[in-house]
Amino acid sequence: MILGVIADDFTGATDVASMLVRAGMRTVQVIGVPDGPAPAADAVVVALKTRTVPAAEAVRESLAALHWLRTGGMRQCYFKVCSTFDSTPAGNIGPVTDALMDALVATFTIACPAFPENGRTVFRGHLFVGDELLSDSGMRAHPLTPMTDANLVRVLQVQSRRRVGLLRYDTVAQGPTAVRERIAALRADGVAIAIADATTNDDLRTLAAACAELPLLTAGSGLALGLPALYAERGWLALDARAAALDPTSGGAAVLAGSCSLATNAQVARWRAADRPAFVIDPRALARGEPVAAAALRWAEAQLPRAAVLICASMPAAELQAVQAELGSASAGALVEACLARIARGLVERGVRRLVVAGGETSGAVVQALGVTQLRIGAAICPGVPWTQAESTAPDLPLPPLHLALKSGNFGGPDFFDEALRADPTA
Ligand code: ADP
Repeated sequence: MILGVIADDFTGATDVASMLVRAGMRTVQVIGVPDGPAPAADAVVVALKTRTVPAAEAVRESLAALHWLRTGGMRQCYFKVCSTFDSTPAGNIGPVTDALMDALVATFTIACPAFPENGRTVFRGHLFVGDELLSDSGMRAHPLTPMTDANLVRVLQVQSRRRVGLLRYDTVAQGPTAVRERIAALRADGVAIAIADATTNDDLRTLAAACAELPLLTAGSGLALGLPALYAERGWLALDARAAALDPTSGGAAVLAGSCSLATNAQVARWRAADRPAFVIDPRALARGEPVAAAALRWAEAQLPRAAVLICASMPAAELQAVQAELGSASAGALVEACLARIARGLVERGVRRLVVAGGETSGAVVQALGVTQLRIGAAICPGVPWTQAESTAPDLPLPPLHLALKSGNFGGPDFFDEALRADPTA
């Protein structure tokens, strides 16, 4: 194993794994920290669900992942965070980065969520989503991690014990040597973590090259793009053109949407506008204890022989706020996640073999319910979202390969669901 990645949520893990596969690195994603040894792969991504748990728990689980990856021989560690830097003032990006640096005896790291292909760029330490500052984007109304400050130096400084500084775009533009010199100057000033500007893939390649010797990188998936070529240059890795191949599958197809992001709401709207089969989950009915999952599965069973189905809880921000005010955000979120997870299991039991899931936390809950412990990473549907193949499912689930596309809520254009179902090349 060359690269060991610790990802703070499931879709984030798949996102970075997709980036590595695309650049020719054979990559396996494991769900949680396995008991056994690390699988044989160039890169291993440990998918945790630590983005929104209490900071102490996130630290504990991240350190367990680090220990397991080190036992597997990892040469460099990557803490994968969201490209919109999703976190609360209490963490968890700062506390986890601090703990990983302590454990790796790392005196410096960069933090760079930029993912230019998906419109996430960092300029003068400020994160942009498309043309908007993070704090003006849909992220300001996220159900679990509302982001109201786009200045990442400030955001991370609130969370970290270490001094946070800035590695600015004009230095990055001068190439790896200038970045290395700037890092030395920042270190001399007592800075231990630098938010790194990046607005293009070239910037990310420069950063990767300049930071090749750092034991830890804290980043979105974008920075991973440049790593495989660097490892190949060093003779650590033979790039594999078939790194993305999956086994063929057949069976029904379904989309589960548990994200209330602008992108997912638009995708749900596009699906429904085309009169395709859709079932909407009402969180108030869940709170009343009504058998919503059973009703959704009965409905899906009738549709599936003819068409792919969508089952969604997504709602626009104003409606979501009303539901959260009534039911509490955490308990409404948990009810919806549990319901979608139960439905996912029911769908697979009814022969669904291609499942698209929208929402990071939602994907985590679905994967857990399906008993998936390991994913092989296939070709990308859009930047950051690959088809994957479940390497192991719960023992009582049917056998043919199960393909999963796990999408962070905000990813993909309005036709993403249809694009995903058409893109599964083996179906
Ligand atoms: P994203 O990737 O957009 O952040 P997530 O799945 O991570 O999406 O988070 C969305 C959260 O919102 C989940 O906990 C989900 O259960 C919750 N949720 C989804 N729909 C509703 C709804 N209608 N009412 C309340 N909570 C909801």
